[in-house]
Amino acid sequence: MAEKVIPIADLRHLEQPLAPWGEAGHAAAPGTSHQAEGLLQDALGRPLRDLRISVTDRCNFRCSYCMPKQVFDKDYEFLPHKDLLSFEEITLLARVFVAHGVQKIRLTGGEPLLRRNIEALIEMLSELRTPEGLPLDLTLTTNGSLLARKAKSLRAAGLQRVTVSLDGLEDAVFQRMNDVGFPVAEVLQGIEAAQAAGLGPIKVNMVVKRGVNEDQILPMARYFKGRGISLRFIEYMDVGATNGWRMDEVLPSKEVLSRLREVFEMQPLSAAAPGETAERWAYADGQGEIGLISSVTQAFCGDCNRARLSTEGKLYTCLFAHRGHDLRQLLRAPSSNAAELSSAIAQVWNTRADRYSQLRGAMAADSSLPRDAERRVEMHYIGG
Ligand code: SAM
Ligand code: SF4
Ligand code: SF4
Repeated sequence: MAEKVIPIADLRHLEQPLAPWGEAGHAAAPGTSHQAEGLLQDALGRPLRDLRISVTDRCNFRCSYCMPKQVFDKDYEFLPHKDLLSFEEITLLARVFVAHGVQKIRLTGGEPLLRRNIEALIEMLSELRTPEGLPLDLTLTTNGSLLARKAKSLRAAGLQRVTVSLDGLEDAVFQRMNDVGFPVAEVLQGIEAAQAAGLGPIKVNMVVKRGVNEDQILPMARYFKGRGISLRFIEYMDVGATNGWRMDEVLPSKEVLSRLREVFEMQPLSAAAPGETAERWAYADGQGEIGLISSVTQAFCGDCNRARLSTEGKLYTCLFAHRGHDLRQLLRAPSSNAAELSSAIAQVWNTRADRYSQLRGAMAADSSLPRDAERRVEMHYIGG
């Protein structure tokens, strides 16, 4: 590929080329300096460290909080295959992101294990190195349904670890949550297979909905305690526009913690890494730890270092964004080159000022602020 450097200043001042990049607010102010290479910082001083890549918008579950059946039915049009980024395109973009400071890549979706031959992508990504020559922290979030079958091949391809989503231990509750009648036992087998294959340390994500699966908090904690698996309780979020989210269905993390502390003696742990989303607590008897992800009640935008690449190659700088920046268009342009992609990504990150979770509180308190949930991007499309 011919290396043609397009000065970022040109991109900055041209109205037309900026159009697919999202809202006017994302266009850089004239005079802003953009770093085309190297480490980036956004408008609030946050680095870019974590890239989540959605490899498919399809899923074999219909979790009511993510892909409710009434919307994602047999008539729903998922993306055609030609619109998905190919593995080569994903790897090319990932390489540019890594040069800009990304150290961790998480494959997600939809259900990432539904993407055919995902192992080939993992192999390609596992060869990337940071500017310091270090391998990436390469991980994947899955509903676990295909994990028992795939754990060994994923590990062999170079995947380091997995996060498995599981919302309860009782079949009646879990099946109501996944809404396709998928049994708990098969997810647990998947987790065991992942452990046996060396895909650890494993995390298990449980979305807690008040009145739906809150009675599963203690059974889940008891089950995973002492197994070398960190169970993370996630507050049900108002992501997307289809799940009919209501604040009264959110069970705040502090309530989860107090229920745990009625039974277990627990001690707070310090964050393992900057930008970590979970508040960690250890069992005092040394039998492991849990995490609390309080996306609703305790905003962690202040050190949010995550970018998201959608299935069709749009870059989102916040889970609650309305629009992404079309990297696929740049990637597939006849004159496409890595330098241009690099400048474009730098421009987006350097002007990023997202902090939705911090503002959510203000919006709830002030009814004059706009309610714009209907325009938000869906979780299964940009990945969690
Ligand atoms: N299908 C895979 C899975 O379920 O693990 C990966 C994609 S899924 C979108 C990623 C994570 O987002 C899952 O742990 C899921 O529970 C979480 N999630 C989806 N919708 C959510 C919501 N409304 N609130 C909180 N977490 C949510
Ligand atoms: Fe599928 Fe994951 Fe969304 Fe559930 S949370 S519907 S498993 S993408
Ligand atoms: Fe990051 Fe947006 Fe979530 Fe805040 S609301 S933590 S900026 S993804």
